[in-house]
Amino acid sequence: MQKPTISQVDSKPRTGYIGRFAPSPTGPLHFGSLLAALASYLDARANQGKWLLRVEDLDPPREPAGSAELILQQLQEFGMDWDDEVLYQSSRLDAYEEVMDQLQDKGLCYPCDCTRPQIREMGLVYNGSCRERSTPPEMPYALRLKTDALKLGFDDEIQGHFAQQLEGEVGDFVIRRKDKLFAYQLAVVVDDEFQNITHVVRGWDLLDSTPRQIYLQRVLDYQEMSYAHIPIIVDEKGQKLSKQSFAPSIETDKASQAIYKALTFLGQAPPLEIEKESPESQLQWAIGSWDSQEVAKVGSLPL
Ligand code: GLU
Repeated sequence: MQKPTISQVDSKPRTGYIGRFAPSPTGPLHFGSLLAALASYLDARANQGKWLLRVEDLDPPREPAGSAELILQQLQEFGMDWDDEVLYQSSRLDAYEEVMDQLQDKGLCYPCDCTRPQIREMGLVYNGSCRERSTPPEMPYALRLKTDALKLGFDDEIQGHFAQQLEGEVGDFVIRRKDKLFAYQLAVVVDDEFQNITHVVRGWDLLDSTPRQIYLQRVLDYQEMSYAHIPIIVDEKGQKLSKQSFAPSIETDKASQAIYKALTFLGQAPPLEIEKESPESQLQWAIGSWDSQEVAKVGSLPL
């Protein structure tokens, strides 16, 4: 019998519910990130699960000082208490290095010094041109993971079935960047495994990263998990609310107002009576009546 390829290996189910919120500390929480925090929190608590917090501080040049502390403080003021210690990705570099070595030992990654303009010319899907080079490039170079040609699909709890043929639609992807920083795709997979995450609830903009993450889980023989992608919030120009689009930070003195609005965006139809209640009692109501199937099955919602 032929050895199963990476995309065909069976997954092993995990028991219990461990969810997480994994913000990148590029600035304080804005309404879009509040929505992701709240949805992952409610889904975990409604399932009697744990809710962990992981600060994805992998890219120091993009992280203004104090952002992580601010996010933690905002979550507390919003009444969202996490379990266990906060995990900082900046403390996990040795673990990423080790996994990268494993991937290299398996012959699954290779150095690539292609430039952005070259990749644009390829139509943005990396064509694997460095796969077969015999000599390593001059520094600096990125490390890419070899992908395969099989269709890799999963059933998203909110958005339904989503599949990608990684080699043709995404291409071999970067796991360590040219500047030597570990890529999000590698770190997120290593840490979801390390924290025993069973359920990921996050923004729709990461839906198309999910097949890459499942692929990596299979390559590394990690456990698979359930995914739910909630719509992202876009401004009047259709741009995702983000630090880059100057989305305002949510003011914690307006916490109740923001939570009420976020619950409405998440399709939970909160009753008017709780509009002015404390964040804690709003969350109690929301945990009791949380229904992830009420979340709109769309990629984005206008603010
Ligand atoms: N750190 C990522 C972000 O802030 C989210 C990662 C994830 O939820 O997988 O966009």
